[in-house]
Amino acid sequence: MGKKGFTTSIVHGDRIAGSEHGGVHQPIHTSVQYGFERVEDLIGVFQGTKKGGFNYARQGTPTTAALERKITSLEEGIGTICFSTGMGAVTATFLTLLRAGDHLVSSRYVFGNTNSLFGTLRSFGVEVTTVDAGDAENVRQALRPNTRMVFVETIANPGTQIPDLQGIGEVCRERGIAYVVDNTITSAALFKPKAVGASLVINSLTKTISGHGTALGGSVTDTGLFDWSAYPNIADEYRRTPAKEQGLLQIRKKGLRDMGASLSSEQAHTIAIGMETLALRVKQSSANALALAQFLEGHKAVGKVWYPGLESHPQYGIAQALFKGASWLLSFELLNVERMVDVVNALELPIKATGLADTRTLIIPVAPTIFFEAGPETRKAMGISDGMLRLSAGIEDIDDLIEDFSQALKLAA
Ligand SMILES: *Cc1c(COP(=O)(O)O)cnc(C)c1O
Repeated sequence: MGKKGFTTSIVHGDRIAGSEHGGVHQPIHTSVQYGFERVEDLIGVFQGTKKGGFNYARQGTPTTAALERKITSLEEGIGTICFSTGMGAVTATFLTLLRAGDHLVSSRYVFGNTNSLFGTLRSFGVEVTTVDAGDAENVRQALRPNTRMVFVETIANPGTQIPDLQGIGEVCRERGIAYVVDNTITSAALFKPKAVGASLVINSLTKTISGHGTALGGSVTDTGLFDWSAYPNIADEYRRTPAKEQGLLQIRKKGLRDMGASLSSEQAHTIAIGMETLALRVKQSSANALALAQFLEGHKAVGKVWYPGLESHPQYGIAQALFKGASWLLSFELLNVERMVDVVNALELPIKATGLADTRTLIIPVAPTIFFEAGPETRKAMGISDGMLRLSAGIEDIDDLIEDFSQALKLAA
């Protein structure tokens, strides 16, 4: 099949790659062991000379491999490794590509658990500097001779800050530094980090890609742009493969195999089904988020609204230039913080829950929940006010959502 569109490739991918009995989905392979007629083939799988073989499910199954192929195609990469969670993917990437004495530069605005993981990295002797990545110059100034990696997220949660994705890509290319972009909030439906020079793309499959809040998963995709032959931390045993494959090979062996956050075939299947409607869902949830953001911005009980699809957003220009939509994530605050609990309780449709990118709208007060452990100082530094509410827009009919918010917000007047 020649190059096809985004959704066409997803829904026909399994069939065209070939599956048993002409099944249009990859079967759910539950075997842990994979046996061979000839022991030479078993040896070949172990040594990597027999391509595409399986030996033990912790390193992958035909079902997880099918999902990996689909994500590779979405991100226009050269290969992907799936993990049991997004954090599994993030952790394996850092721990396999960084060593004690290395330096990592990250955006200050990252997922709370990733930020918490930086503490663990520091305790292992990796230096971590966080900067306001809205200006690539801040990243450039933070670089040191031992900087190996720059990490950013496309749209930060909950503050919706967007880094200077293009500018940082140029800095990393000039300096030969690995550029890791977490594409979870946008997903390939809205943005392909390869376009700004990303070396590796991380996705929490739990969120936008799977989309229904029924599976946990994560992935790392190599875009093929980075020259791993010049990267000092690749172990000798992985230098024998072509330079392009060395990064992912090390993550699969030292990360997936040794650390063990492996995705199960059952979950891979659920994620693959969810992914078929990725573009359709994101179109609807992003349109809903934009309509809600506009409604909230015009409401007299509402203070600030954080949404990159609004002209008032500091990175509106970047969002317009790089993204196909501003995503389903928005935050807002009530002017009267004392009324927050009553307003949220009065909402009938949005589910009071953490989590992101469900088909159902979710709402959560940020300071007392997901950023409670961070404490008041970190919250202030991250621009999180006491009255901030985070909204993950679902795919409901927009009139129902607006009507619901209208009635609930009356309590804040
Ligand atoms: C949720 C999330 C993760 C972690 O994903 P899990 O699948 O929940 O482990 C990583 N990065 C971002 C941006 C996220 O939103």
